[in-house]
Amino acid sequence: MLPNKRGYFGDFGGKFVPETLMAALNQLELEYKKAKKDKKFRVELNYYLREYAGRPTILYPARNLSQVIGRGKIYLKREDLLHTGAHKINNTLGQVLLAKRMKKSRIIAETGAGQHGVATATVAAMFGLKCEVYMGSEDIQRQRLNVIRMKLLGAKVVPVETGSKTLKDATTQAIRDWVTNVKDTHYIIGSVVGPHPYPAMVRDFQSVIGKEARQQILKLEGRLPDYLVACVGGGSNSIGIFYPFFNDKKVKFIGIEAAGTALKEGKHAATLVKGHTGILHGTKSDLLQDKFGQVDIAHSIAAGLDYPGVGPEHSYYKKIGRAQYFAVTDKQAMEGFKLLSQVEGIIPALEPSHAIYYLKILKNRLKKNSIVILCLSGRGDKDVDIVSKLI
Ligand SMILES: *Cc1c(COP(=O)(O)O)cnc(C)c1O
Repeated sequence: MLPNKRGYFGDFGGKFVPETLMAALNQLELEYKKAKKDKKFRVELNYYLREYAGRPTILYPARNLSQVIGRGKIYLKREDLLHTGAHKINNTLGQVLLAKRMKKSRIIAETGAGQHGVATATVAAMFGLKCEVYMGSEDIQRQRLNVIRMKLLGAKVVPVETGSKTLKDATTQAIRDWVTNVKDTHYIIGSVVGPHPYPAMVRDFQSVIGKEARQQILKLEGRLPDYLVACVGGGSNSIGIFYPFFNDKKVKFIGIEAAGTALKEGKHAATLVKGHTGILHGTKSDLLQDKFGQVDIAHSIAAGLDYPGVGPEHSYYKKIGRAQYFAVTDKQAMEGFKLLSQVEGIIPALEPSHAIYYLKILKNRLKKNSIVILCLSGRGDKDVDIVSKLI
């Protein structure tokens, strides 16, 4: 079972952090190990996932979309229907329960699209914990509605003005805060990134997506799907749906990254497609870097994909050929966005709109009866501002 004891998925992962954080990471790892074995913890987490977040989510047979694509049977795993509007709440619920076990009174988080910030502020409000969310000032502009939401939920939103003023810089600031306040603070990372044990822990919390989808498709179709398709930012909704199918070798995994405006320096966020191995935010993985090894600025129309790194487990899946990764441009994502809205009456977030567009390309590999499950990671309410400006 991966990762190994030192937190490695093959060559990727590990813990590259200052000495002051080692104790906190070890405490988190130990507590998480105990919690995983503790029936009470699992019952409590399942309770909140069900009664608060709204699980299980529907596996929707998208007949109209399938017809437009022209081949194959497409199902949507409707994570957009969850409380707060995206898959992020699966992870924040798990981590807030861990924070409670560790008796931490303060929660910090980083956020890009604002979805993780909202999901964190939400659970902090419910469990009565203090909450501060780091967010790039560029993203604050782009995701105004989510900023208001976080404030209404009682969280403090801390603008980050350094670097590209997006998710990468917010993450760096959050890590800095954690170093200083590690005693009473738990840092809820929003994706399968960061130092061990985060990539494995967040994957486990998000695996509920794939576990449900597996049972649901077996019940509906009597067999496993041929393809799983999901968008990849940090990589949590995709790993969440992929991982429970890891040993089902016939199920193909396809991750879709953001090609932005072009696959050129500073214009995209296609980390697995274009990046190189390096170290960012405490983990060894693929990342976008220039010829001097400096981390490149990422770009995507979807704030949730706008990150120059990616979870180490994805780098591993790519290396061993378990998953394939492709990139879809801003423009194509807009097409995917419009398509799903218009044929199914479901307004998707811009992030999974990348995956929706890719179905048009995947079509060439599909047979009439191929089954495809696409992870619809979130709803599009947060993006209507951006989209309406572009139409
Ligand atoms: C944050 C976000 C993503 C990207 O994050 P992953 O960790 O790659 O899943 C994708 N879709 C939505 C709706 C998001 O909010």
